[in-house]
This record gives sequence, structure tokens and C-alpha cells, in this order.
Amino acid sequence: MDEHHDVLIVGAGFSGLGAAVRLRQAGRHDFVILERADDVGGTWRDNDYPGAACDVPSHLYSLSFAPNPRWSRSFSPQPEIQEYLRGLVTRYDLAPHLRLGHELVEARWDDTAARWRVRTGRGSFTGRVLVIGTGPLSAPKLPAIDGLDDFAGTAFHSARWRHDHDLTGRRVAVIGTGASAIQFVPRIAEQVERLTVFQRTPPWIIPRNDRPISGLEHWLYEHLPPTRLAARAGIYTARETLAVGMTWRPRLLDAVAAMARGHLHRQVADPALRERLLPDYRIGCKRILLSNDFYPALSRDNVELVTDPIDRIEPHAVRTAGGVEHPVETIVFGTGFEATRPPVADAVVGRDGARLADAWADGMTAYRGTTVTGFPNLFLLIGPNTGLGHTSMIYIIESQLNYLVTALSKMDEHDIVAVEVDAGAQHAYNEGLQRRLDGTVWNTGGCASWYLDAHGRNTTLWPSFTWRFRRLTRRFDPRGYHLRTRQEVTTACPPQTPVP
Ligand SMILES: Cc1cc2nc3c(=O)[nH]c(=O)nc-3n(C[C@H](O)[C@H](O)[C@H](O)COP(=O)(O)OP(=O)(O)OC[C@H]3O[C@@H](n4cnc5c(N)ncnc54)[C@H](O)[C@@H]3O)c2cc1C
Repeated sequence: MDEHHDVLIVGAGFSGLGAAVRLRQAGRHDFVILERADDVGGTWRDNDYPGAACDVPSHLYSLSFAPNPRWSRSFSPQPEIQEYLRGLVTRYDLAPHLRLGHELVEARWDDTAARWRVRTGRGSFTGRVLVIGTGPLSAPKLPAIDGLDDFAGTAFHSARWRHDHDLTGRRVAVIGTGASAIQFVPRIAEQVERLTVFQRTPPWIIPRNDRPISGLEHWLYEHLPPTRLAARAGIYTARETLAVGMTWRPRLLDAVAAMARGHLHRQVADPALRERLLPDYRIGCKRILLSNDFYPALSRDNVELVTDPIDRIEPHAVRTAGGVEHPVETIVFGTGFEATRPPVADAVVGRDGARLADAWADGMTAYRGTTVTGFPNLFLLIGPNTGLGHTSMIYIIESQLNYLVTALSKMDEHDIVAVEVDAGAQHAYNEGLQRRLDGTVWNTGGCASWYLDAHGRNTTLWPSFTWRFRRLTRRFDPRGYHLRTRQEVTTACPPQTPVP
């Protein structure tokens, strides 16, 4: 017998837990969270590599409706963020709603009954509404390099760190120099015998103004909440100004590029190494990274930066294009995630029996980043074109939660059993988005990045101020949607089919 709930949430990261908290705060208790892992936390459970931390200040990178006045640092380390997320479970009594170890295998829309039928590894569920919070960066991506399968040592992705594999005294290769690698390279450089860092494209790196949050600040944030709100608003505003350069006037980022060049110059004495670390694309085209210890780590005697392309992996070495062999015992991949081809899209089957992955064969699209034509009562959290290059993803998640909660209210008020965005509305929305994306630094900055899909289309980022997205999703607007009432379903249903 399937377990039925009004709302089925998939994923227990910031999105899924945030959705659960908002539902409870709205007086809704009939929901479950289906999570494949045996713990909550998502990104912050999986990315427990040495040095992992957020790169948006914690007071903004946390849920506004579940504040934490006691963040230890401006950029809190992973264990603290993970504890914060675990804490939400107790703070909002979410344990009865959690179904850990429940990987979504298939979610199929039953149009006759107007409900989702969901199969997980551990049981089946039905629900009126399906909320997908499976994360844009939750499926690690490994590069297709010849010979990887024959590697005789230990190889793993940074989001699946092998804590049982001691790196002390080993020869280690790191492939990739993105946001994760620049955090763990300085940590492991001190531990290993030899570290070879393989870089395809250098990132732009600016100083990381991290500092402990003082006892006085903790006291103020706890006892005078407006001070915490003011700190949050200050971070938000400062970050938001970057959107101008990224989306309209890339030249405005020249000052940030100058800061990054100065940082490189101050931290790397060797001009030849500096040259190889200086990006040749416009700043902002790829994520701007923050670090004070990555460049110094690369200058260590036991660390080598290799910029020749990798040709293949041998059982005991990485071989680069010139035929040079770099002997290694361990390979750590800091090569990012399947951001433009999320695996969950293969598991979701819509009204006409088509999979979300098929609907997205030419690239991911949604309406307001949240709903998709052909997939009634489906709400995506961090869906297509909701990602950010400059500020906190939590702001986007919260905006989408406003949309979700007001959609549920609208459905209840008018006895609506199914909402589905009109194909024309979705198309027009995306045409507008793509026009706006044309002039952005991500599309014109001269880099290859995971923001663009295999067709060169930017299906990941939101091309404007985040408050514009907040305004767009402030409340569910039924215009642009096809709505079906209970009455219509009842008449369409064969009598033996139960109606929710
Ligand atoms: C290392 C790292 C650092 C980051 N730092 C920042 C930062 O500083 N600022 C920022 O704004 N963003 C940052 N991000 C982006 C980050 O992913 C988002 O901010 C946010 O954590 C996403 O939350 P989420 O709940 O949507 O996804 P996730 O945290 O990825 O959670 C998704 C959950 O869904 C589960 N799941 C996936 N598939 C299934 C399935 N089929 N069935 C059941 N469960 C499933 C996963 O196990 C996971 O628990 C970072 C990302 C990474 C990888």
C-alpha cells in the first residue's frame, strides 16, 4: 500500500529542509522528505573534504526564517553548516517527516488521479505535489580520461572524500582548480609527500576576508536581532552590486580583476608560475574564487602546477600531452558536478509519459525556474536558470518557497487539483531569459564553464539582480497556468479510482 502525503519533497539539503520548515510554518504537516542518504545536509554532508567552507558569508548563506546568531566565522566551515542543517530537524521537529535511505527511483504523474506516484528504493508514495530539491551540484562529475579504469592507486572525487585513505607521505594528483580544489589543496599540500595539481583553466582568485565573529557580535545578534538583520542586509547589498558587472556591464568588473591580479602578484613570487596562474578570460565568466592560501600552497617545494593537458591515466601515473609521466598513488578529482544534466531528470515522468530528461533534451528550461510544462504539480527548487555567480543560493531557494507555499494556498482556496504551466508562457519566459543572458559575462567572457550546457546555452544562471527573482516568485500567479479543479478530475476519473 502506497504511503500518501499532500506534499512529497525529494532531497534533504538546504532546499528540502527549507521547504519542510516553510510548510510547517504555514501550518502544513502532511508531507515527507525523501532523501537517498542516511543523513540530512546535502552539499554540506557530502563535501566534507579538508578545508570545506562556504564562500558567501554565513549570515546570508543561511535561512532567514531559521536564523543562527552564533556563526563562528564570516565564512563558516563545513562541519558548522552541516550542524546547522541537522539542527533544523530538531528545531522544527522534522524527524517524523524524514525518510532517509529513500532514493527516488521514479516519480510518475498520474493524470487521471491527479497525483504523483513515486517509487523509492525503500517503498512507494503518492502525493498531490512533488517538490524536487535534489540539488544542482549533487552528482559529482568525473572527466572522461583514457585509462582511468586501469589506475592502480586510489581515486576519488572531492565530494566523496575517502577519509579512510590517509594521504600522509603519498604522491597525490589533484585534477581541477575550481572552487573545491582551491579549498583542499592548501590543506593536503602540508600532508602529502608530493602534490601535482593539474590545471586546465586558471580561476580568478581574490582575497578571502574571513574572520572570527566576536563574542560581542554574537551577543548583539542573539539579543538584538535587528543587528543581525542589518549585517545580513549589508552583505546582501554589497554582493548584489556585483550583479551589475556580471549581467550588464562586464567592464565594471575590471576593478575586481585588478584586485585579483594584485593578489596573485603579492602571493606568487615566481613570474613564470604567475603567468600560468593568470586567467586570459574576463573575470566573472567562471565563478570568482576566494582564497588566501591557494597561491602560497602552489609555491611550496613539494607542489607542482601542471598546465599541459592530460593525455591519459596510467596504472601508476598521470601522463600529459607531451608524453611526460607524473607518478602518483592517489588522484583526487575536483572536477565539479553534473549541473546541466541532473540525473533526477531521468526519474521524473510527466503527463504524457515523457521524462523530464527528454523534455530537456535541448537544454533545461522551466517557468520562473520552478515549474515545467507537461509536469503538473511539480516544483523544482534551484531549477533551470536560478543559479548565481555572485551571492547566496539560499535567497533563491527562499524565493521559490514563497512561490510553492502560495501555490498550495491557491490550490486549496479554489479546489484546484492540478496546476500546469502553459507551454507558451514557459517558452516566452525563456526567450526573454536567453536574450538577457546574451550580454552577460558568462556568455561573452571567453571561457568554457559549467554554466553553459553542451549546446553552449546558459541554462543554469539567473541573469539579473536576485531581488528581481524574489519579486517574480513572491506569490504564485495562476495566469500562465492551466488549472484543473477537483470537479473536473472527479468526472474524468473511473469510479473505482480514488480521488485525493
Ligand atoms: C562544495 C560546495 C560549496 C558551495 N558553497 C556555496 C556557497 O558558499 N554559497 C552558495 O550560495 N552556494 C554554495 N554551493 C551551492 C550549494 O549546492 C547550494 O547553496 C545549496 O547547498 C543547495 O542545496 P540543495 O538542497 O538544493 O541541494 P543539495 O545540498 O545538493 O541537496 C540535495 C539532496 O538531495 C539528495 N538527492 C539527490 N538525488 C536524490 C534522489 N534521486 N533521491 C533522493 N534524494 C536525492 C542528495 O542526497 C542531497 O541530500 C556550494 C556547493 C558546493 C558543492
